[in-house]
Parts: sequence; structure tokens; C-alpha cells
Amino acid sequence: MKQSIMIALSKGRILKETLPLLKQAGIEPTEDLNSRKLIFPTNHSHINLLIVRATDVPTYVEYGAADMGVSGKDVLLEHGSQALYEPLDLKIAECKLMTAGPIGREPGSGRLKVATKFVNIAKRYYAEQGKQVDIIKLYGSMELAPLVGLADKIIDVVDTGNTLRANGLEPQELIAHISSRLVVNKAAMKVKLHELKKIIDGLKQAVLNTTNNQ
Ligand code: AMP
Repeated sequence: MKQSIMIALSKGRILKETLPLLKQAGIEPTEDLNSRKLIFPTNHSHINLLIVRATDVPTYVEYGAADMGVSGKDVLLEHGSQALYEPLDLKIAECKLMTAGPIGREPGSGRLKVATKFVNIAKRYYAEQGKQVDIIKLYGSMELAPLVGLADKIIDVVDTGNTLRANGLEPQELIAHISSRLVVNKAAMKVKLHELKKIIDGLKQAVLNTTNNQ
């Protein structure tokens, strides 16, 4: 009997862009993913998909509740764990992690206030520069913070930059290029090597085919 494989995905952009890659690797959900269920069967009886919050994917994989998952590099950098294998860049959901601030306005001379949901990334980024800043944790709508005086700058993921510009903000410093990565539980990689390698190789080929066709 084949060893069971659980793949953690998150709804939204990552799910939408991962499904075609999984399909090319021969894996397709057999139920409508828009339902309220959280575990979905696939056309392989030993492979199931787990739908969790994007920020929870590394946790499910790290603890082995999922054998593998797809997670944005921003989420992985923020999670900051060495406990995951990251065997493949899926080259999807690409964007940039950047600082942003009000267009044409430099912050005052006081201590810089930075609002973000990426608190760990922000701490590391400013520590590397030897800058002391106040980091303010937010869970969403970061663009609002400089508009209402909560912060001087924000750190957020930027794609087109339209959301920033619509709020009078501009992208400033690039912190990291972001794309979604395949992550694999280290113990599962040993115990379920054969099954996992088949999926990793299938996805690797799917990424190659997709990037070659672009
Ligand atoms: P933008 O195209 O820069 O206006 O992006 C719109 C919003 O979508 C931004 O506020 C980001 O928070 C979010 N966003 C853009 N690209 C990604 C991505 N690859 N992953 C997660 N969130 C994203």
C-alpha cells in the first residue's frame, strides 16, 4: 500500500496558481475546493489536500501534520524555521517585499515607526542596518498606518504597486524577491521519500514546462 501524503495549501492566489502545477504533476482534487471542508481527496487515494491559512502552512508542515505544502517566501521568512526543506521554487505568486512610505515625504528626525505584519522580518532588516526602530504589528490594511499617523513607513508585499499609490504611498527599499515555495517536512522526506520524490519531480517538471512556455 502507498504511504499517505498530505499537502497543505492556502486559499487565494497560491491555491489558484498551484492547482495547474499539481494537475501537470498528475494530481487533481476530486471535490469542489470552494466548499467549507478543509481536507480534500484527490484522484490518488493516498494523496489529500489540506486547506489552511497561508501563515499556518509552515507550522502544519514543520510538525508533520502535512508532509508538504506551498508557502510564500514572505511567510517562510517571517516563520523563520530551519526545520523545513525547501526543495523547489514554484515561481508563482511573485512579488516583492518592500518598505513603503508617503510619496515625497521623508520621515521626521525621531525614531522611525514601521507598521507591518512581518514583525520578525522587520526586526532583522533594521537590525542588519544598525537602525533602532519601533515596529508596530498589524494584521492587515498596512497602507492605512502612515495616512493616519500610526507609522512613518510600512513593510508589505508589493505586486503592481497600485494599492500603495492609491493610498499616496510609494515603494522604497527592496527587502526580498518573493515567490511561492514547495516545503517538505524533514522526517517525512526520509520516511516517505519515494512518494514525496515522485510529487517533487512532477512539480519540478511542471514549473519547467510553465516557465519555458512563458
Ligand atoms: P498591488 O498589485 O501591489 O496593488 O498588490 C495588491 C495587494 O495584494 C497588496 O497590498 C499585497 O498585500 C497583495 N499581494 C500582491 N502580491 C501578492 C503575493 N504574491 N502574495 C501575497 N499577497 C500579495
